[in-house]
Amino acid sequence: MSATAQRILQDTFGYPAFRGRQAEIVETVAQGGSALVLMPTGGGKSLCYQIPALMREGVAVVVSPLIALMDDQVANLRAAGVHAAAVHSGTPPETVRRLADDIHAGSLKLLYVAPERLVTERFLRFLDNTAVSLFAIDEAHCVSQWGHDFRPEYQQLGILAERYPNVPRIALTATADAETRADMKHYLKLADAPEFISSFDRPNIYYQVMEKNNGKKQLLDFIQKQMHGQNGIVYCLSRKSVEDTAAFLCENGLNAVPYHAGMSLETRQHHQHRFTHEDNIIIVATVAFGMGIDKPDVRFVAHLDMPQSIEHFYQESGRAGRDGLPAVSWLCYGMNTLVLLKERIAESQASDFQKQIELQKLNAMFDVCETAACRRQLLLRHFGEESAPCGNCDNCLHPPERFDGTELVQKLLSCVYRVGQCFAAGYVIDVLRGKDGDWVRQNRHEQLSTFGIGSTLSDKDWRNVVRQCIGLGLLTNDIHRHQALILTEAALPVLRGEETVLLRPLKRDKAATRVAKTDNWLRTEREERLWQALRQWRLAKAKADEVPAYVICGDKTLRDIVEKQPAHLADLRDVYGLGEAKIEKLGGEILRVVAEHRAD
Ligand code: ADP
Ligand code: ZN
Repeated sequence: MSATAQRILQDTFGYPAFRGRQAEIVETVAQGGSALVLMPTGGGKSLCYQIPALMREGVAVVVSPLIALMDDQVANLRAAGVHAAAVHSGTPPETVRRLADDIHAGSLKLLYVAPERLVTERFLRFLDNTAVSLFAIDEAHCVSQWGHDFRPEYQQLGILAERYPNVPRIALTATADAETRADMKHYLKLADAPEFISSFDRPNIYYQVMEKNNGKKQLLDFIQKQMHGQNGIVYCLSRKSVEDTAAFLCENGLNAVPYHAGMSLETRQHHQHRFTHEDNIIIVATVAFGMGIDKPDVRFVAHLDMPQSIEHFYQESGRAGRDGLPAVSWLCYGMNTLVLLKERIAESQASDFQKQIELQKLNAMFDVCETAACRRQLLLRHFGEESAPCGNCDNCLHPPERFDGTELVQKLLSCVYRVGQCFAAGYVIDVLRGKDGDWVRQNRHEQLSTFGIGSTLSDKDWRNVVRQCIGLGLLTNDIHRHQALILTEAALPVLRGEETVLLRPLKRDKAATRVAKTDNWLRTEREERLWQALRQWRLAKAKADEVPAYVICGDKTLRDIVEKQPAHLADLRDVYGLGEAKIEKLGGEILRVVAEHRAD
């Protein structure tokens, strides 16, 4: 590893060591090579081009799809004392002119631009006469129609390879599937560049999944018992549920704001701003929220409904714990969501082929919810990584109990068979429980041998059995016939009595007891007071500078200050996340806050 890169990492960004493959990537690009970088959200992609930008002559041009994303990066860089800027539609012309001067004077190190601006002839002509240190293409999966954020302008970026063959290009993304990767190589002309693929594991995230019972109440419980005072994102499927949930949390004394595409732009911006800038805040949102939000100290992401694929789940839950400190991904799922999502797929305009793909993705997500094995193992396997049980998910820490449910399952399966595999769960359960409504009579199903054989279980318990059977692959829904339950091949040996089926208990497990290992790092009383004092100081500072609190410094930095209790400026060099610019600007005040609390 070059000493220069190491020194910039420490002096400018205040970090002692590179993570994962960062060092190799930095080295490659700093020496003028191109690279394709795949890292999970929060893995630390930005430094992979920011450090080479500081090592090379000229200005680095960074392509980014969203203004919010650019502004956030620029704020972070400036706080670290790096001269960086963004140009977009909102940038006044005189600022653009001044930036051009700075570029020619060689003082601007990073310039963020939108792809559509970069590929204009005017901008390219400007670059022709400029020393460009490197091109970084962030969120590079936008180039692919297979990805979820397709941006046609990205496909024109291949021009950079032709026009500037000697400038290194680095493309970065958190999306890993093979089609997207092939598209990135093709359109961005990176076929010969080395690929740096990192593990997709996010070891600091604890996965916790539970069956839905009263979702809002379960969520409130989770927040109050495990996450009090922490920043979090709550995802809901519908706008209405966003509104209801946010209101419910507020009524219960939490600081929560709603966010969805049906709200006015102004309100949305306001709520997003509050979320990024405040501490101790929860945003309740549809999945419209999140891209471009780099708040590193999000301590939990909660899903009040099951997402439609593991890719979606991973991207959304990955917004927790970017700072590497413990964080929780919490998910609550029910049969209704599964059926609703299946209906959405069935009714969509997509081709049958596409529908099959989406259905498979949905089922894979459902398996993660239903599994009794390590959840992380299943998630990583989906991304092509084999791993051992993780010891940091609910199933690893509290292996679920099982009981022999063979007889119940046989009753259900044979009832599905007897009604001709043409009815959805609700109807099958009515027959099992012996409810002879009009419809049952019309079909003469009160005469079936399975009519009423399940009267001892409640409707809710039967739904639970149905869900588990779907999860175990014994039953599936026919999306072409109103989600009718149908038997799979795997159901036959069970019906013939050749196989035992183990089920999870039907009564709700004590979800509250299946909590994450608590992070009991702090907490002598004096430390706690110093911690709170530092947080207050940070908030005041952030307000004064009009930047998010984490731009001043992250939780991990504050925590390190509490642990090390620095007394002199020189001590601050060992504190995580404090580079020279920050020490110069904030060092005195930090020492003062620490000193005030050391006295007593
Ligand atoms: P990504 O873009 O991959 O989602 P970021 O580049 O935003 O991730 O980095 C996530 C967080 O990790 C940021 O707060 C960043 O400062 C921090 N980080 C990145 N690299 C390191 C490192 N080597 N040591 C410590 N923290 C790091
Ligand atoms: Zn596990």
